[in-house]
Amino acid sequence: MNAPDPTYFRKGFGLKQDVEATLSADYSGRIVDLLRARDYQLTVGDVTVRMAHEFGFCYGVERAVEYAYQTRHKFPDRRVFLVGEIIHNPHVNQRLREMGIEILMPTDGVFDYSGITADDVVILPAFGVTISDFQTLREKGCVVVDTTCGSVLNVWKRVEAYARDGLTSLIHGKYYHEETRATASQVEKFPGGTYLVVRNMDEARDVTEYLAGRGDRSAFLAKYGKAASAHFDPDIHLARIGVANQTTMLARESLEIGEFVGAAMAAAKGEAYRATNFRTFDTICSATQDRQDAVNAMLLDPPDVMLVIGGYNSSNTISLAALCAEKVRTFHVEDALCIDPERRVIQARDAKSGERFEASNWLGTGPVTVGLTAGASTPNNKIGDAVARVFATRGIDLSTIA
Ligand code: SF4
Repeated sequence: MNAPDPTYFRKGFGLKQDVEATLSADYSGRIVDLLRARDYQLTVGDVTVRMAHEFGFCYGVERAVEYAYQTRHKFPDRRVFLVGEIIHNPHVNQRLREMGIEILMPTDGVFDYSGITADDVVILPAFGVTISDFQTLREKGCVVVDTTCGSVLNVWKRVEAYARDGLTSLIHGKYYHEETRATASQVEKFPGGTYLVVRNMDEARDVTEYLAGRGDRSAFLAKYGKAASAHFDPDIHLARIGVANQTTMLARESLEIGEFVGAAMAAAKGEAYRATNFRTFDTICSATQDRQDAVNAMLLDPPDVMLVIGGYNSSNTISLAALCAEKVRTFHVEDALCIDPERRVIQARDAKSGERFEASNWLGTGPVTVGLTAGASTPNNKIGDAVARVFATRGIDLSTIA
């Protein structure tokens, strides 16, 4: 049996107990504990906050953040770098910076590793990194702590299999998102491996139009140049398709895209052709699915407004906000500070347009029920801060509630 590689770690360092107290102090929260203890609902005065039963930190984020803390603990005297943000939450990233972890940020999607030496330690985020970034770092000889989430690795396996079998990976995702960049790069493991990223049903429709013979090659290439392999040619590479998705997209839309593209291929070339040249696999992660299911359950009895907490660049939070906005007036805030109790004003991101807006008197007057959920990268203490500000907007001080 080969000796373990002393420069590559993907299961932490067995130091959980050493970092547990710090993690808890940094991210757990009394108000969220209180909500859980009261069956996810808290009423004080005429304000009720109802919380979705699944929300906030997912297993992949918990693991990645814990491994980052373990890494700092393990290598107190070494330079420690992180490839991009560990997760899309400004507080968590700031906390890592305070611990002396330097976050490398890309320029036009490209990371500069020229300053990294064999004496350094580099943490890979939960989203994973591209194959070429991974190889560059391994060649440096530095210690690599890989926190790539197991659910992301599952998508990679799927995309790898598509490339091995000569199918173009059609990825439902955002082509510029770290996870999708890393996922798409997996096709490079096989000569001629090809990918195309579509963001939503509208973009999937461009693919189905092409399959139906109504596409324009130049227009297609112009639109998807950045979202496809450099050698991608729709005349060649839409002949065989395997669908996968970024783990944090809207699950319902991912399924629809898979079915829609498969049906278009069958309509264009027949069922028998589809049977051998089309595959689809739902690679939404279970944490994303659970959070979306919990919001759907809450919306069966809709609150007056929904508050969705999480980074504006957090894909899973954006998906949650989109779901909520279909049924209820929704405020996606990146942080508790977006809620100003004094002025009774909220600053939020519009779930449909993505535009920022400000609303005054957003809780109205009289009894109000606020539904609450949070993206997978939002820590409990920050969720609690937002809940406190909701109540404070109506002059209610939660610090006295036990
Ligand atoms: S959202 Fe899903 S894939 Fe991403 S880190 Fe969390 S569990 Fe893993």
